[in-house]
Amino acid sequence: MRMAADILTVENVTKSFGNLRALDGVSLGVRDRKVSILIGPNGSGKTTLINVVSGVYKPESGRVIFDGIDVTGHPPHSLYKRGIVRTFQIPALFWKLTVLENLLVAEKNNPGESLFRSIRINGFRSRRDFAAPWIDTRAGWRVIHALFSLKNLVQHRRVMRKLFRERALVSFLNSLLTLSLSPWKRFFTLEWRQAETHATEKAARILGLLGLSSMWNQPAYLLSGGQMKLVEIGRALMSDAKLLLLDEPVSGVNPTLAHEIFSRILKLRDELGLTFFIVEHRLDVALKYVDEMFVMALGRLIASGLPDEVMNNKKVIEAYLGG
Ligand code: ADP
Ligand code: MG
Repeated sequence: MRMAADILTVENVTKSFGNLRALDGVSLGVRDRKVSILIGPNGSGKTTLINVVSGVYKPESGRVIFDGIDVTGHPPHSLYKRGIVRTFQIPALFWKLTVLENLLVAEKNNPGESLFRSIRINGFRSRRDFAAPWIDTRAGWRVIHALFSLKNLVQHRRVMRKLFRERALVSFLNSLLTLSLSPWKRFFTLEWRQAETHATEKAARILGLLGLSSMWNQPAYLLSGGQMKLVEIGRALMSDAKLLLLDEPVSGVNPTLAHEIFSRILKLRDELGLTFFIVEHRLDVALKYVDEMFVMALGRLIASGLPDEVMNNKKVIEAYLGG
């Protein structure tokens, strides 16, 4: 009946905690490039399902198929690489970094992030322009480390030891280093620079889609709760996610911003072809934005389909009123 293919298939998945069956044979298919929502009373297993799909928990039985590949039990980082990214109920941002920096640190395959390439190619270049105090501090330590190893190297030669006393040597090396840094920078940082420029352009595009362009230079701790949730989504997008698992993206967010967040989600679905699988309690907000709906109760899927059908389903009404 359905034309669109499923990007994610969960087949008969079981997951227990002690005697408790948090997931009791759950099967569902999430359609590609659609927004699906998962609801259910507290403790019905929604977060556990997200944890199984994102690789945090290994199911006891059943399978998880993503993009045609059986990924059951794969660890989170490998699922992340394949394009499954989750956000958390409480945003986990780098609070002192700016909005832009929070996106940049989530970028995959950045040569500046690799130790070998950043030392070899990037040299002593500071990333102050983009990436904040913690990266600056690392660069600072690299300079100090390089100075000391050079100093030790030279000190081991007798002639040099005679020629220079320690202080003189250090200040000499210091000036040598300073003098020679600038030409190296221009020569060696090409690859790193290109990647960084590319990442920054990508981040700027994502901030535009999320309506955060004007906030790019704000530290994360100054944002409102709703903006923090948007930045978390933005970070997920930097990783080239295909499937985003959002755990309660509008909980604790005021109605205006909650609607804004869901409108942005639709925009991302349409413009970037993303699939969303969202756990959310706020049906007053969410219902008008979703393509498909799933309902869980006591570890089982009790209904699925279009929002209108599902909301009139007897089992669903019972689970909510009776549960
Ligand atoms: P939901 O997100 O729908 O509220 P959860 O998936 O968080 O529900 O939890 C489902 C059930 O599994 C609950 O009864 C919960 O207490 C239990 N549970 C979840 N995680 C754990 C855990 N790590 N250890 C023990 N029990 C857990
Ligand atoms: Mg939960």
